[in-house]
Amino acid sequence: MTETTKPAPALVTSAPVSSSAISAPLLRLAGLEVHFPVRGAGALLGRNKGVVRAVDGIDLKIRRGEVLALVGESGSGKTTTGRVVVKLTRPTAGSMELEGVDVTDVWGGRALKTYRRRVQLIFQDPYETLNPRQTIHDFVAEPLEVQGIGTREDRTARVLAALDAAGLRPAADFAFRFPHELSGGQRQRVVIAGALVLDPELIVADEPVSMLDVSIRTEILKLMLDLRSGRDLTYLFITHDLSVAWVIADRIAVMYLGKIMEIGPAEEVIRRPGHPYAQALVSVMPSPEPPAAGARQRREILEGETPDAAHIPTGCRFHPRCPWAARVGIMDRCRKEEPPLFPMGEEHAAACWLAEGGKVLAPLTRAVAPASSEV
Ligand code: SF4
Repeated sequence: MTETTKPAPALVTSAPVSSSAISAPLLRLAGLEVHFPVRGAGALLGRNKGVVRAVDGIDLKIRRGEVLALVGESGSGKTTTGRVVVKLTRPTAGSMELEGVDVTDVWGGRALKTYRRRVQLIFQDPYETLNPRQTIHDFVAEPLEVQGIGTREDRTARVLAALDAAGLRPAADFAFRFPHELSGGQRQRVVIAGALVLDPELIVADEPVSMLDVSIRTEILKLMLDLRSGRDLTYLFITHDLSVAWVIADRIAVMYLGKIMEIGPAEEVIRRPGHPYAQALVSVMPSPEPPAAGARQRREILEGETPDAAHIPTGCRFHPRCPWAARVGIMDRCRKEEPPLFPMGEEHAAACWLAEGGKVLAPLTRAVAPASSEV
């Protein structure tokens, strides 16, 4: 079996964050649920057609100074979780603490303003986020105006400092341009400056590089890591791309249909995935290196579509697509009982009956077979 090396090592050369700096919990989510009513033709008669369980009971702790990547396909609930953290979506159940203070019911007034100073969002699409009629200065200054911070001169000084921190230098050359005068990478730097200008502690970054060219992605990820070190930032980094998560994250949580299927240190989740879903995602990750001579990597292509969140399967919600339940003869249990997260090692856990009792699973889908053998 060949070892896959972490891609783009240059990205992680920023000053390391000490382990003590990433030990204190900054944000804690407990039993978080976000359910949306499904309304169809019956809505006119006031009849509910069902419930979409977008987030279905997750517990997460994000430590100060760490990068936690939330990874999953479309419909996994990762973006909804991020929207709850930035107070754009109300949870149906569960609680949320910021540095030990319950903020579950913070939904308006001064408390929400204070919360927003501490927790900011970077959107996915810089083209949609920026108003084509607004200068870069006015876009970045907007959060300061909403918060009533400083005089116009103070705000301009903070805008220039944020643009500079985001790598738009000299900042004064960019501040009074319009978005159409900038490249895609520069626009995303403007969006990052808009998130930095309030000097937050936690940034939720929702697919911040997915709209960018590969070469620009590398620059933006490096910028985010540098900002983490220089400004003591914490990130909840939402992505569908496990290889991006591997580059940037200290820990990875893999979501599927509203639940966390696996969570652990990034290296552990990538090199020793325990959940069959995480194993399948890892197996199709592009490798930065060719396989060793005479070997090739087995890829697990999952069959079927992700079920919709209004009709979550009973038992283990992954069972209709699981390549292993039938093979190892536990399908009956998988259909009936939902597995909790079983510890697999230090801070590493997987929600699969195969990991019960802390068993270390064989790397079922990361195997490398000789080129001549059948896969
Ligand atoms: Fe597959 Fe069963 Fe594990 Fe679910 S609990 S992932 S169905 S083996």
